[in-house]
Amino acid sequence: MRTTAYLSLGSNLGNREANLNHAIEQIEESGSVVARSSWYETEPVETTEEQGWFLNCAVALETEFMAPELLARVLAIEQSMGRKRITAKGPRIIDVDILLFGDAVIDTADLTVPHPGMHTRRFVLAPLAEIAPEIRHPLLNRTVRELVDALPGGQAVRKVKTQDLTTDNTDKH
Ligand code: AMP
Repeated sequence: MRTTAYLSLGSNLGNREANLNHAIEQIEESGSVVARSSWYETEPVETTEEQGWFLNCAVALETEFMAPELLARVLAIEQSMGRKRITAKGPRIIDVDILLFGDAVIDTADLTVPHPGMHTRRFVLAPLAEIAPEIRHPLLNRTVRELVDALPGGQAVRKVKTQDLTTDNTDKH
């Protein structure tokens, strides 16, 4: 059985665009990436630590894997890219979250789907709304477009082009 999963990717260390591209290439090994949003530069939120802006995107993945297997593969990608967990919300080379997995609702020790933070985060919803505006959050029963429109202001997110990006974000944190 094939399921469409939506993933959120973020990076705020080193060459952020190369990091996201590398992670997407690896995600392709778990199925077909059928959509990818633009790049979005986003202000770090939910953190007190001084750090550089993130580059974020969302992808749609058609996969034969079940959700726990997909999570294991995503965590392996993060590890292979050398992600170090220094502080919980600190700077990171790569972060990959499973936002939605079809219309599944999952709540286990290792995996919560829909991702519990997705509906409050503009850095997640803005890219997702570009590729899947009409997808419905299975618990909130609202579309991604409705969720992004309902967000309060105050989380800066801007669509960016490759030529506007610096290739090294390391000195910004
Ligand atoms: P973080 O480093 O904050 O992205 O958290 C990663 C941990 O969150 C992983 O070890 C997962 O077991 C757990 N987790 C729970 N739900 C999800 C999800 N929907 N997507 C990715 N990780 C998840």
